[in-house]
Amino acid sequence: MNGKVNEDNGRIERRAFLSRSAAVAAGIGATALTGIAAAATPDAIEEAVAKVGRLPRRKLGTSGREIAMVVGAFVWPSDLVEAGARCGMNYWHRVNGFKTIPPAILKNREAHYCQVSVDRVRGNHETGQIVEEEHYQYVKQALRDTGLSYFDDMQFRFGYHTAAEVKQNRGMIRAFERLKKEGVVKHLCLSQHSYNGNALVPGGQSAPEVLTALIEDGAYEHYQIMYSYGDDKASSDAIALAKRKGQGVIAMKTGRGVGRMGEDAAFMKRLPAGTTPHRALVRWLAAETPLDAVTVNTQTLEQFVENYAGMGAPLKAEERRAIEMMRAYADQRACRLCNECMEGCRQQINIADIMRYERYARDYKDIRAARYLYAKLPRQGDACTACGECPAKCPQGLRIPEKLAEIHRLLA
Ligand code: SF4
Ligand code: SF4
Repeated sequence: MNGKVNEDNGRIERRAFLSRSAAVAAGIGATALTGIAAAATPDAIEEAVAKVGRLPRRKLGTSGREIAMVVGAFVWPSDLVEAGARCGMNYWHRVNGFKTIPPAILKNREAHYCQVSVDRVRGNHETGQIVEEEHYQYVKQALRDTGLSYFDDMQFRFGYHTAAEVKQNRGMIRAFERLKKEGVVKHLCLSQHSYNGNALVPGGQSAPEVLTALIEDGAYEHYQIMYSYGDDKASSDAIALAKRKGQGVIAMKTGRGVGRMGEDAAFMKRLPAGTTPHRALVRWLAAETPLDAVTVNTQTLEQFVENYAGMGAPLKAEERRAIEMMRAYADQRACRLCNECMEGCRQQINIADIMRYERYARDYKDIRAARYLYAKLPRQGDACTACGECPAKCPQGLRIPEKLAEIHRLLA
């Protein structure tokens, strides 16, 4: 996630979501979701580019392609895409979501890596299936829809449910191989969510468990995973394993709680002078993690400058202090989406999904999308009976029943 919310499943649902969002959103939501409005003047873009300069680059996975450490997506409005491209951004997540491919990419297509993302079919990411022919046809249709003659990367979005599924169902990989033979895709990658404790995915495993199997399997070149300050050892171990094998890792959902911090005057007052939560986050990700690239919530040119100016420089002492404060702040409030609490909930509540939608509302300020996604949940927060089963399992010690009630009031 690196702009407004871009989560939904399937072509028809996604289109409906975009159209609904565009219809209801007042300004910023529609702009960010469709990526067609150019809010900034050429002078403002020029100024932003001058302030940010050349973004640092890393080699991505086994292909060794050099990419800017900031990954953009279809949710970026066209002025941000223009500014990003001029600062060297060259990897674009889920370009099949753009209503039209931005000129900044098209005018130098060979210099950009464009990713098509592919979901399970006949259901959502929990209930859907992996079906070779349908994924193959989906990508062919995406080529027609975007007008591109090829995609650089094909991404399996949301990933596998279990390590066993990686071995047993090669449908996504076979679809990729057919498309690669035709020259319309070049690289295979995946974003991985956690399915442990998910009532709709019996036997589901955590993202680090599945990733470990994927890395050993070697069919995928790079991975997009949830990663932020204070994350668990299992995720760090999976990233380290990928790096040892020469495979790439892009972090998503990096800003755990940063939107909330920005609105907390007392917290902001205590934050060391000269930094902001987003700036400290980006500097820390670039300077102190082994990640190849990151996605960070960015919606305006002002945020583009705030986030990325100075990216790649060594972490300053005040930024290090800021990250420690942010970690402590987020640990008290913002779920890390690990799913540890979900096993055994007799109400079969998908706690992590509810907490994710809270993030969209509170941190990405996209209340409409959060409510839209929340409305689709089979069990909402008000189904919690406060039975007391889950809080002890939360590594952050979050008071889950109270949080669910509070989120339900926000999103229902
Ligand atoms: S406290 Fe609520 S969410 Fe937690 S296990 Fe019980 S019913 Fe499920
Ligand atoms: S509430 Fe706690 S245990 Fe549950 S997903 Fe969030 S951080 Fe993990």
